[in-house]
Amino acid sequence: MNKEYDVLIVGTGAAGLYGALQFPEDIRVLLISKRELTLSNSSLAQGGVACVLDKINDDFALHIADTLTAGKNKNNADAVEVLVKEGPGDVLRIRDLGVDFDLDENGELQKTLEAGHSRHRIVHHKDSTGKAIVDALLIQVRKRPNIDICENTLLYKLDKADDGFLAGLILPSGESQVIAARYCIMASGGIGRVYQYTTNSAIATGDGITLAFMLGARIKHLSWIQFHPTAFAAENDRERFLISEAVRGEGAILLNCNGERFAEKYDPRGHLAPRDVVSNAIMQESKATNSEKFYLDITYKDPDFVRNRFPMIYENCLKENIDITKDRIPVFPCQHYLMGGIDVDLHARTTVDRLYAAGECSHTGVHGANRLASNSLLEALVFSRRAAEDIIQRRKTDSARPFPPFEEKEDLSGKPLPHGYRTEIRKIIQNVHFVIPNHDAAPASLERITEILSEIISGGYAVNRDFVEARSLATVAAIILREVVKNKTETE
Ligand SMILES: Cc1cc2nc3c(=O)[nH]c(=O)nc-3n(C[C@H](O)[C@H](O)[C@H](O)COP(=O)(O)OP(=O)(O)OC[C@H]3O[C@@H](n4cnc5c(N)ncnc54)[C@H](O)[C@@H]3O)c2cc1C
Repeated sequence: MNKEYDVLIVGTGAAGLYGALQFPEDIRVLLISKRELTLSNSSLAQGGVACVLDKINDDFALHIADTLTAGKNKNNADAVEVLVKEGPGDVLRIRDLGVDFDLDENGELQKTLEAGHSRHRIVHHKDSTGKAIVDALLIQVRKRPNIDICENTLLYKLDKADDGFLAGLILPSGESQVIAARYCIMASGGIGRVYQYTTNSAIATGDGITLAFMLGARIKHLSWIQFHPTAFAAENDRERFLISEAVRGEGAILLNCNGERFAEKYDPRGHLAPRDVVSNAIMQESKATNSEKFYLDITYKDPDFVRNRFPMIYENCLKENIDITKDRIPVFPCQHYLMGGIDVDLHARTTVDRLYAAGECSHTGVHGANRLASNSLLEALVFSRRAAEDIIQRRKTDSARPFPPFEEKEDLSGKPLPHGYRTEIRKIIQNVHFVIPNHDAAPASLERITEILSEIISGGYAVNRDFVEARSLATVAAIILREVVKNKTETE
């Protein structure tokens, strides 16, 4: 690791990796990941990437319309247009970089249908598209001499310095290392771990959003959360794996605790309605039946077809002693995706000079109030490329005064953070802001979260991953609850 870089990229998911690949060899990039390089939401993505490649049966206007309808027209229409029109180019570029998308009988990219899309336009690699993307992009990134990659290296602090930033990193040894960078791209992913149950990977604690917030960046719509209706309902696991929409798309039926279909009672589209509608139907039915037991049933389909179409889901369920060709799959809604985040413009610029954000930590406005399936990998690709292009351009004219002298190491020692804060934060958010928000509980919950945050910040605790993540979860929870309280006040 050098002392100075042109660009620091925080995150090795789709946004971080693809962003890094845009820089020419004379731009020095430091790419960091707080855990292993492949531990991310990107690696978990199953369904695929939405984009218009078939200009005969599909067109941009339809993809735009589907995105706006899913987003309840609360999207940023300019950002949606950029996403939809530029997305196909990025998808073809990652195919050329080695992503092994499934092909149809004519050797063209196979396109499938997902809920909310009016056309077959999701390109995929079986049911593990995200892993295929991350693996291929990592191979490319490793070949680039201008990119230093550091795993198990956590950003705990980001300060403005003359014409750039000073970034505090916790190395795998636990020691600190401070480096300087002219530009920073946050590609640090979502916030799922602020919930008790989520489909998100363990890295999704909102660190990038918190550090950007601490720098004064505008954060928008952190309470716009997508709950996936059909996550596997394991008894204890916090991270719940997804039973993708495609399983319902292929005919699986959603049943209540009595083995009855019910989704049609709440919406004529039944269990194929958008995610928020189906999640809502499940919560209402849960109240009506006084039970949290729900199931997907695909047992009536040909077992070979089911195993071939959903190899990863089949294997994951088998590990939980559920053979989906014979048994009903227990499911329940859980946190899945963050539509809001660090507010950015069409070039992924945040409101802090030289700070960019891309992927799930950012708020481009493309998703509006509800993300259309398979639009998020697309967003990560399009806007991380745009961030890099903007940096490449402005670097030609931006001033680059020498960084002031700085200490390369900081003392991170202190008392260990007591157990319990993270559990309490998760319980509060799960109780107040899950599918149907509990507005009445929000003000008192916000007070408690504010207390927790100040105890964490001022307690003299050792700065390590546990501390940084707890601080992030408390910060994110406070921002969510402030939005919930504000919405309650506005509607009263
Ligand atoms: C189960 C599941 C299935 C999904 N399926 C699809 C799908 O089919 N199609 C689709 O479009 N979307 C899907 N999504 C959503 C999509 O995968 C994510 O929104 C997207 O991959 C996010 O990419 P990202 O690069 O922004 O973040 P991530 O891929 O989550 O990467 C975040 C990176 O930031 C790093 N990081 C975080 N904090 C720090 C720190 N403090 N210091 C250093 N590094 C840090 C992490 O280590 C990680 O490398 C799915 C999500 C899940 C959870």
